Amino acid sequence: MPGPPLKLRFVSSATRTHQLPDTPAEVAFVGRSNVGKSSLINALANQKQLARVSNTPGRTQLINVFEVVGGGGSGGGTLVDLPGYGYAKVPGHVRKDWGPMIEGYLLEREGLETVFVLVDGLIGPTPLDVQMLDWLADNEVPHTIVATKMDKVKSSKRRTRKKELAEGCRLEVGDIVWVSSAKDVNIDQLRDLVRSHLS
Ligand code: GDP
Repeated sequence: MPGPPLKLRFVSSATRTHQLPDTPAEVAFVGRSNVGKSSLINALANQKQLARVSNTPGRTQLINVFEVVGGGGSGGGTLVDLPGYGYAKVPGHVRKDWGPMIEGYLLEREGLETVFVLVDGLIGPTPLDVQMLDWLADNEVPHTIVATKMDKVKSSKRRTRKKELAEGCRLEVGDIVWVSSAKDVNIDQLRDLVRSHLS
């Protein structure tokens, strides 16, 4: 039986890791701007306006922390929404800040259990996604790939697309969690996976 929605409560935003509240366990979500990260976090929480879904990708340039209310066993836990990468229209100085901010977070954050790297199911992985995955592997940061917007891939093409995407990430098909926030596909499964990291 799938569990209930993850009840998320916004705690704070920061640009630097040391400004974040302490946590017993945390999972983070990262991905290219427009990959569907806000939609996915909203779907996991079953709350429409929690993380901003926007057609102006790259607008959210902060590390956003949510508390998982009543989740994660006795200790609670947190979910972090990291700013999206690779949006060309973001001014240069913002882009320049992104690297140190995210890298600092991923390397220094106490309690970070895993990073969910979102890859667009229709077009991913992009070169930037691959760069991110290589960086995480080189730095031994535990991560799981989530392919988004599964509904956009025609059912006749899904088998091939899953294989292609996995090969692009140098993984097996079964290593990747495919979801659709729009059509509520595998959201329960991902929610359970999130919970398992927080308990
Ligand atoms: P973010 O920039 O990564 O936070 O991406 P958003 O959640 O704002 O989504 C970017 C665009 O993709 C929006 O137009 C969403 O409506 C759309 N989108 C997000 N998830 C899905 C999905 O599962 N299926 C489809 N078809 N579109 C989606």
